[in-house]
Amino acid sequence: MPHSLQVSTRSKRSRRSISKNGTLQLTDTYFKTNFGNHRLFSMAKKPLLEFTDKGIYCPAGKFYIDPWKPVDDAVITHAHADHAYFGNKHYLAHHFSKEVLLYRLGDIQLQTVAYGEKIMKNGVQVSLHPAGHVIGSAQVRMEYQGEVWVVSGDYKVEDDGISTPFEPVRCHHFISECTFGMPVYQWKPQAGIFNDIDSWWFSNQQHGLATVLVGYSLGKAQRILQNLDLNIGKVYTHGVIENTNEALRRNGLLLNPTERITADTLKEEVRKGIILAPPSSVGTPWMRKFQPYSFGYCSGWMAIRGAKRRRAADRGFVLSDHADWDGLISAIDATGCESVYLTHGYTATFARYLNEIGFDAHEVHTLYGDDEGAAPSDAAEEERSVQPTPEGKVSKRSEVKVSPSGEDSEGADAGEEPL
Ligand SMILES: [Zn+2]
Ligand SMILES: [Zn+2]
Repeated sequence: MPHSLQVSTRSKRSRRSISKNGTLQLTDTYFKTNFGNHRLFSMAKKPLLEFTDKGIYCPAGKFYIDPWKPVDDAVITHAHADHAYFGNKHYLAHHFSKEVLLYRLGDIQLQTVAYGEKIMKNGVQVSLHPAGHVIGSAQVRMEYQGEVWVVSGDYKVEDDGISTPFEPVRCHHFISECTFGMPVYQWKPQAGIFNDIDSWWFSNQQHGLATVLVGYSLGKAQRILQNLDLNIGKVYTHGVIENTNEALRRNGLLLNPTERITADTLKEEVRKGIILAPPSSVGTPWMRKFQPYSFGYCSGWMAIRGAKRRRAADRGFVLSDHADWDGLISAIDATGCESVYLTHGYTATFARYLNEIGFDAHEVHTLYGDDEGAAPSDAAEEERSVQPTPEGKVSKRSEVKVSPSGEDSEGADAGEEPL
């Protein structure tokens, strides 16, 4: 009986130990006032969102969210390749995603909106809200007949200094990622990570080594750029990263100065600076030409796979654009949601834990990777725009494995045993 289910959900929730600062109180009040009698009605009607083989679908609004097969109407959470596919007739995204989407997908029919701006799609009210994942990333809020659903896309809760910070959105049903949904993933504040990066860079400079830092081209690269101590030296970029920077600058974003590495770039000059490179450049002649160099890698996976990655990289920096374990739980809790659907990451483990602490959590199957799918997109970009280098041409072969689900640098490790 629905009513008894509601009571049992509440009593389970009240046993939760993770609630902070009265959130539980708010949640209970929210449940009473917002569900009440029409919860009986909402249980009987069709859910606002369905999980289909093309992507997350809203039948009432007749649109998809981040579809991986071509559809007529697509709402895009962010411009990473596993969320923004080519081939849809119409796209809706945040203003800050505009130039990157046009750059990555070519001539698409794209409508952009501000955070919080409400638009109607066949009677469903749709708005985008900051996800804090990368520049322009959004959660999608949908409201229909008094019920609110939110699709998180990828998100992180730490303010990275460049993406609009994550804002929790109250909802009845929350569709969440859980890329790092294991307790072992606990991020340190980024200020400490950037101190480590700056010290490593400075030390390399003192020892006559070039500094090559790898992070994916949309999000991580700009986060690094904006947080480095530029008193140490100049920032040089691989063409794939610089193309993304240029798209963002066209979009009005004020990024710190960078210099694209070209055939004319002097090796001795580069040695004093820091080189930002995409995952697809690892192991290529393009990277080898900077020898002698020290090579660092920025990824959340460094938290547990650092030792392995360091066989290839000299330094692993635990810097992720996804929420860590505590971040996921606090974000989900702050929505006050009744049910949670987990799209990608450690969905089974995380769903079990959420159910234990009183949420109604479900795993759903999607094709989202751990992140942007930088491997396929960056490799493709390299093939389209091969940059000349002091040693000749950049190799067209990427040594980064491309997974069918479009995983990126962070995701490239995901096929391995998680622990
Ligand atoms: Zn993703
Ligand atoms: Zn992403």
